[in-house]
Amino acid sequence: VTMLFPEDGIGARMFPTALSSFLTEQYRARCVTVRTGETVAHLERHGSRWRAFTNSGASLEADAVVAGLGIEPATQLASNAGLAIDNGIVVDEYLRTSHPDVYAAGDVVNFYCSPLGERIRVEHEDNALTQGAIAGKNMTGSARRYEYLPMFYSDLFEFGYEAVGLLDSRLEIVEDWREPYREGVVYYCREGIVRGVLLWNVWERVEAARELIASRERAAAGAIEW
Ligand SMILES: Cc1cc2nc3c(=O)[nH]c(=O)nc-3n(C[C@H](O)[C@H](O)[C@H](O)COP(=O)(O)OP(=O)(O)OC[C@H]3O[C@@H](n4cnc5c(N)ncnc54)[C@H](O)[C@@H]3O)c2cc1C
Repeated sequence: VTMLFPEDGIGARMFPTALSSFLTEQYRARCVTVRTGETVAHLERHGSRWRAFTNSGASLEADAVVAGLGIEPATQLASNAGLAIDNGIVVDEYLRTSHPDVYAAGDVVNFYCSPLGERIRVEHEDNALTQGAIAGKNMTGSARRYEYLPMFYSDLFEFGYEAVGLLDSRLEIVEDWREPYREGVVYYCREGIVRGVLLWNVWERVEAARELIASRERAAAGAIEW
C-alpha cells in the first residue's frame, strides 16, 4: 500500500507535529509506503491495473486506487433557488436558510456554532444526524436552536480518537500525555482559550471536552481528567 498526500505527515493539519510524525512512522512500520508532500496529478488505466503519475514526476502502478480528497458542498440547487451561499448553505440558529420555508442540515450547511461563537461547516456524521433531527422538528412547528457542539472520531490501527471543536495544528497547542502519542489529551487554544480537544485513546470524556470549550476557560494540562 502506498499513501500520498500533500502534508508533511498523516493528519498534519489536525495533529501536533510530533503526533503526526509518530503516526506516520506507525504506518511505515506496518509496511505502508508513505510519501509526504506529494499528490496524484493524473491517473491512467492499463487493463485491470492503474498507473498514477505524481506531481513530482514519479509514477506508481496499482491494482486499485482510493481517493480520499474531502468534499465540496453541492450548493447548486440551493443557489439556483436563490438561497444564501457562503462556504455551504447559510442557515440561522434554527437551521433555516435565507428562505423561511427552507431548512438545511449536515455537511452542506454553514451554521452558527454557539459553543464556539463562530460560523463553521462540519463534515461528520454526529453533526449531520443531530442537525437533521432538529431541522425536521423545526419544520414541523418547534423552535429549537442548534446549540450542539458535534464530535468526530476515527481509528488508525490501535490508535483511536474522539474530538470536539476546532482541531487545527496552527492553533496554540497544549499536550497532556500519559504515554506520549499513545494515550493523552491535546488542547487547541486561541489566545489561551480552549477551542478544541483531541481525546487520543481516551474514552468517555467527550462531554467533559464540550463543557470545557463552552466554559471558555484557559487551557492547562489536566483540565480534563481521565
Ligand atoms: C469515505 C467517507 C468516510 C467517512 N467517515 C466518517 C467517519 O469516520 N466519521 C464521521 O463522523 N463522518 C464520516 N464521514 C462523513 C459522513 O459520512 C458525513 O458527514 C455524513 O454522511 C453527512 O450527511 P449528510 O446527510 O449531510 O450528507 P450526505 O450523507 O452526503 O447525503 C446527502 C445526500 O443528498 C443527495 N443529494 C445531493 N444533491 C441532491 C439533489 N440536488 N437532489 C437530491 N438529492 C441530492 C446525495 O446524493 C446524498 O445522498 C465519512 C464520509 C466519507 C465519504
